Amino acid sequence: MSSSNFSSATSQIIRVGGCTETDLTPISFWEFRRLISYGELDGLIIAAAARSDFAKQVVQICKLYQIPNVGVLSTQGIYWLNMYKIFVPYLESDITEKCNLNCAGCCHFANFSVAEDFYPIENFRRDMSRIAQTCDVLEFHLLGGEPFTLKNLDEYLIVARQCFPKIRLVLVTNGTLIPTLPQKILDALRGNRFELYISLYPPTAKMLNKIEARLKENGIPYKIERIVKSFEAQMTLNNGHNPAKTVARCRCGSGRSIRNGKIYKCPIDAAAYKFAAKFNIKSFSQPTGIDIYAPNFSSMIERLDNPVELCYWCAEDYRKIPWQPTNNPRLEDWFADPDELKNFL
Ligand code: SF4
Ligand code: SF4
Repeated sequence: MSSSNFSSATSQIIRVGGCTETDLTPISFWEFRRLISYGELDGLIIAAAARSDFAKQVVQICKLYQIPNVGVLSTQGIYWLNMYKIFVPYLESDITEKCNLNCAGCCHFANFSVAEDFYPIENFRRDMSRIAQTCDVLEFHLLGGEPFTLKNLDEYLIVARQCFPKIRLVLVTNGTLIPTLPQKILDALRGNRFELYISLYPPTAKMLNKIEARLKENGIPYKIERIVKSFEAQMTLNNGHNPAKTVARCRCGSGRSIRNGKIYKCPIDAAAYKFAAKFNIKSFSQPTGIDIYAPNFSSMIERLDNPVELCYWCAEDYRKIPWQPTNNPRLEDWFADPDELKNFL
């Protein structure tokens, strides 16, 4: 779309943010507010990371002023929003809870999945189709557990690309199963234009040459994250803190997590039911998933912009625990201050 597609003589395409990938003149947030309140704006391109709150804030203001042409600049180009849809810039999904590494303190609680627990492909297909119809999503990540433990992962990749033909799709993995992956999974990654984010755990680092060779052979783009030497244990029983501070620290931002027909504020909230069951914590927070099929889904999802009940269980400060695999997960692996547990349970 170019500026000539816009409807009035005052149309402008203006870039808010610091990205330098276009030759449009950037403006500050305050200049944007001035132009919009004077009615001098009917088009806008936002340059901001999908997961940041910034793009969401700007889109909310544009909806309020009924600005018709709003695009978001990403590595895929400019994504023009449908202003009647719900803006969910970043979405992720744990498609399986099974993992082959079992790290102590895993914040997706993958290290005590007793049976293979996964997002059934039929539910995934139905939910993705609903999200594509109702929401503008800029970036979607599939993760787990370890997604490569799913034998039919190729079906999830195909569904995701069919529902979101234009956006950035990422699969997050610990990488250790890549050297032995069936060819059909590698073909589906490449064919559906997925990028891989590889979390560099110590076992991953040991086999990195083999992993990179296999991905290069198959033309699959990937990014190696920083080596993971420790995890952040962040739960607390002390609910006297300000949950807005914990949300700012945890950097979940505008990211949302989808699982079996519901959208959650973060992956921890989506999986926390397992934690309560495993350690028999009767008073644990109730998950705050928003039903994506509810008639008032679009207004309900705004609740997730505020802290949810589980945010009171996240401490303002965390404790670093060294990375290690475990067959014996302990409650204190998740707690910022294990002394809090002395009189608990
Ligand atoms: S590799 Fe990731 S998902 Fe698997 S147990 Fe470790 S932290 Fe959890
Ligand atoms: S529960 Fe709240 S504070 Fe904790 S990780 Fe999720 S969003 Fe962040």
